Amino acid sequence: MVKVGVLGATGMVGQRFIQLLSNHPDFELTTLAASSRSAGKRYEDATTWYLNDAMPEEVKDIVVCDTTPEAMSNDVDIVFSSLPTEFAAKVEKEFAKDYVVASNASAMRMKKNIPLVIPEVNPEYLDMIDAQQKENNWDGFIVTNPNCSTIALTLSLKPIADNFDIKSIRVSTMQAISGAGYNGVPSMAIVDNLVPYIGSEEEKMESETLHLLGNYDGEKVTDANFKLSASCHRVPVIDGHTEAVFIELEDDFELEDIKNKMANFKALPQELNLFSAPENPVIIKDEDYRPQPRMDRNAGNGMSVSVGRLRKDQAFDKSFKYVLVGHNTIRGAAGASVLNAELINDKIL
Ligand code: NAP
Repeated sequence: MVKVGVLGATGMVGQRFIQLLSNHPDFELTTLAASSRSAGKRYEDATTWYLNDAMPEEVKDIVVCDTTPEAMSNDVDIVFSSLPTEFAAKVEKEFAKDYVVASNASAMRMKKNIPLVIPEVNPEYLDMIDAQQKENNWDGFIVTNPNCSTIALTLSLKPIADNFDIKSIRVSTMQAISGAGYNGVPSMAIVDNLVPYIGSEEEKMESETLHLLGNYDGEKVTDANFKLSASCHRVPVIDGHTEAVFIELEDDFELEDIKNKMANFKALPQELNLFSAPENPVIIKDEDYRPQPRMDRNAGNGMSVSVGRLRKDQAFDKSFKYVLVGHNTIRGAAGASVLNAELINDKIL
């Protein structure tokens, strides 16, 4: 078994890590770290548990430790990071001297030689790890996953980008409140309301998507060469981001071709039969009223993206549009890191 720890273990994403790692066939959860507010307490006492499934018995008595490499009392091989960005920027580099760090935080995502990876989309970016270790003189390394709304969008785009020339994409999001963390959005701001701004989210979607769908030549990434514009909004949904996507292609197309490419999309995690890999990364819904966050966020154990309302755009040539739903704390956060770690465990460790 590979021994794993979670940094930010008491938070929204940290709890998802614990849920996904409990009873994992290859990973044994040994270490939980959080801030000095929680360190020294039993996990059960330090945490306001928000998930519907009960807290796994085996973590209740684990004493939360400080978020420093020295505090990792157990032998740990991989640390999953769900730390606030500013803190992650400092601390993940310290951990990478000795450990594999699979991070959700945005701090290191777009840095040179730090792979930003979705296993179904760009597993080859893991080849950056050698250069990263040499450059920093680290025994460990950092691998990151994208922002939650970017992951869902990019998974849906991969079968399109592989088979058609994309000219431009516009996307409008309706994002769940869990995406901002437990204390993120005050109830007075979101009940009976919508907030039309999520700090830095649009910039992350626009840059990370082009990076993920780009080309790595062994030295650097060249971004995908279409234009992407995002507008991001917070809505009163607990879990599950919804996105309305508008795509213009360079050439004419048959809608049925697009639908088939998305529905039949499989990639390396499915070939390798990785534990967290969904059978279908993209699930097509034919009913007019799907996908909806409450009904579709748990598709593929929260690891699939549901796509519906796929239709030709009558207003613009060579264009189509659709709506997607993805689980923001599973496929968009903890599940994404766990799948990255499963791929690393299969290919590198
Ligand atoms: P959260 O619910 O606010 O949890 C934050 C966690 O970090 C808690 O465990 C907290 O510990 C710990 N922490 C805070 N300050 C710390 C410090 N100075 N030193 C050590 N630990 C500290 O946040 P979240 O939603 O889980 O998000 C965590 C990270 O994941 C963020 O970088 C976020 O951008 C990213 N992310 C989140 C989502 C999502 O859907 N929520 C999706 C993708 C990426 P205490 O309990 O002890 O304070």
